[in-house]
Amino acid sequence: MIEVYVICPGDELWKENLKKRGIDRPLQRYKEQAKQEIEFPNPAEGMDRIYKVTDGEIRLQMDSPRPEILDKARLELAEEAERIRREDEKVRERKELLESMKTRPFWHYCEVCGKKEYITAQQAFDSGWDYPPQMGDFGLLSPRTCGNCLLKDTLYWRVTTCEKVPLPIVVEDMLTPQELVIWRRIKGEPQSLLCMEEDGEND
Ligand SMILES: [Zn+2]
Repeated sequence: MIEVYVICPGDELWKENLKKRGIDRPLQRYKEQAKQEIEFPNPAEGMDRIYKVTDGEIRLQMDSPRPEILDKARLELAEEAERIRREDEKVRERKELLESMKTRPFWHYCEVCGKKEYITAQQAFDSGWDYPPQMGDFGLLSPRTCGNCLLKDTLYWRVTTCEKVPLPIVVEDMLTPQELVIWRRIKGEPQSLLCMEEDGEND
């Protein structure tokens, strides 16, 4: 059994508050406005007894049921559930994709010499690549090099040793066009490694 007590101001309290705020308009008009803007609980919402409490007096007030209130609430709940389901699905898809990157072949781009190979993470690791998921994480700045290239020539190195920016963060405005290509590719991982990139005009 659900009982609800709704405290509603009586005329005296209304008058007092209007006076306190220096408002000199008819009390009745404010009461009407409040009635429209503040909804009194409706039995359709599942309460067994609804009491209105005014100036210490308790009175049962069961308005006629308005089932349409529930339709709206149900619709909102359904929409919320759908939104959560879609978000969960996105998280799950990302997780599955990341899991698949451990075994499927994908494009490895050496950011230093420009070499590209469509190989698995294991094959890359065996031939000396520094590449996620074996080295570093997809989407986060770290070296992306083949077995012949050096850490000190990577964007990662330039960013983390840059004296102009005290924190190891990427400031896109400070990147050259080539560096920007590297950075966007890293940011877009692992999706950016699934299809071969079109060669840019610079090649
Ligand atoms: Zn290389």
